[in-house]
Order: sequence, then C-alpha cells, then structure tokens
Amino acid sequence: MTTPVFRFAPSPNGHLHIGHALSALLNARAAIALKGRFLVRVEDIDQTRCTSQLEEEMFEDLAWLGVPLDEPVLRQSENFSHYRSALEKLQDMGVVYPAYLTRAEIKRFVFRFEENGRSWPRDPDGAPVYPGDDAVLTEDERQTRADSDAPFALRLDMKKALRKLDRELTWDEAGAEGKALFEPVRKIPVEAVAWGDVVLARKDTPTSYHLSVVVDDARQGITDVLRGLDLYHATSVHRVLQELLGLPEPRYRHHRLILGEDGRKLSKSNQDTSLRSLRQNGMTHVQLRKLIGL
Ligand code: GLU
Repeated sequence: MTTPVFRFAPSPNGHLHIGHALSALLNARAAIALKGRFLVRVEDIDQTRCTSQLEEEMFEDLAWLGVPLDEPVLRQSENFSHYRSALEKLQDMGVVYPAYLTRAEIKRFVFRFEENGRSWPRDPDGAPVYPGDDAVLTEDERQTRADSDAPFALRLDMKKALRKLDRELTWDEAGAEGKALFEPVRKIPVEAVAWGDVVLARKDTPTSYHLSVVVDDARQGITDVLRGLDLYHATSVHRVLQELLGLPEPRYRHHRLILGEDGRKLSKSNQDTSLRSLRQNGMTHVQLRKLIGL
C-alpha cells in the first residue's frame, strides 16, 4: 500500500484562526492514524497580501498547536514555472481563452440583466458566472483590447473542456468525523458547469488557486485532501483540471466548519478567533483542542 500523504495548505495573508487549527489537527491526526506523512504548503500566490512575516507567524502557531510536520514545505511563490507549464498544456488543448471583462463590467452586465426580474446564474461561491466577452463588448472593442495592453484573465472554457473529456467524472469523498474518518467512500458526481469559465491565471499572475492546487497536490504526491466544507464544490473544478492534465486523483474528505457567532465563516481579519491572540491571552493548546471539539 502506498503511504498516505496529507497536507495543510494555508495562505499567509492573515493569522491562522481556530478553523485552521481544526483543519491542521484533523490532518495531523489522520496522518498519524494511517502512518502517513503530513506536509504543509504555503499558498502565497497573492504576493500583495501574503508576507514572510505572516508566514513565520503561521509556523509559530503550528508549532504551538503541536502538529508534527514533515518536510519539505512547498511554497507556491517559488513554483510559478510549474503552473506556467500546466497552463501551457491546457492552452495547447485549446480550452483556455483570454477574457477581458473587468469586475465592474461583469457587475454592470448582471445588474442590467436582472433589472427586469430575470436572474443571472451564480457559481457555488455566489459569484456571477462569467458571461463571456461577446455578451458585453462589441467585436471592435474586443479586438482593441486584444491588441492593446489591457488586463485580462485566462479562463478555462468549461463546456469545451467537458466536451473534450467526454465522460462522467466523479470524486471519492471519504468518511465522517470521529471513528469513521476514512469510511465509507462515496462517489460524488462532478458538477463543473455551475462554475462556468473559472480563472486559471491573470495577465501578471501565472496561476490561480484552482490551477495551483491541482498541480501541487500532484507534485507533493498528496493521496488524501482533507479540508473544510467551504471547498466541497471546488472539488468539481479540481477534478476537471486533474483529468485534463492527466494528474492522479486524490481521495477527498471535507470537514465541518467552525462558524462565528453570526453563523458565518470565520475570517482572518477577526482577531478574537486568531490562534495568536488566544495564545497571547493565555489559552493552552489543550484548551484550544477542547474548544474546537477535538
Ligand atoms: N489555501 C486554501 C485556504 O486557505 C486551502 C486550499 C485547499 O485546502 O485546497 O482556504
């Protein structure tokens, strides 16, 4: 049997909070139970918001939590060439196109579309599905932007990609929390159309979350992706990219989220739930584990 490899993949764009602690501890626990490895990946492609200071503090938090980490750490900002090659592979397959609409233009289009009672589709994260440049811009305008230095995003033509794959895709979703951590495994049908044409890269950034996560899960040999339920639907996109790129399919498990008092996802800007401030206020890691039900 191959050694299971788990990972924790935070972005150092703020301090870790108790939701990250749950994720890191569940991964560490699973790796220990299965005699596997537990790797950390620093998801720092957003070089404007991620800093080395925050990364350092993130490792301090993990040390305090007492999670045993294996080496090496993968830092996405040091791996842009790998994302670039994956992107080129997708471009060669003809499933990537430059998209010129700005956020404001998309917003205006959706606003107009919905003015008379119709509703424009939203992706599983609640963002409007990309309407396509030709829904908004004249042919001349599209050409002008293509010929100029205008900013663009490289998007996956989702329908074309699915036609190319031409098979029903699924992913393996394992277990429930507690004793049944890895069993049973259910086949979940991939529903990628709902995402529309997701962003794979931008003019000045050779990757996006979706692209780098599948490239890195493969490069790090991750067999088990154990992450929060907020990323459950994103797995459909990841499976499509894995199939297009010929990457191995890890097993997935999405764990419960810790919600704030307002019932919403915790945010890195809320200092009350950051591991750093809890620690500075005298909490021990044992108390923390109890607080998050572990
Ligand atoms: N970097 C992502 C986050 O902090 C996690 C990515 C993943 O686990 O796939 O939410």
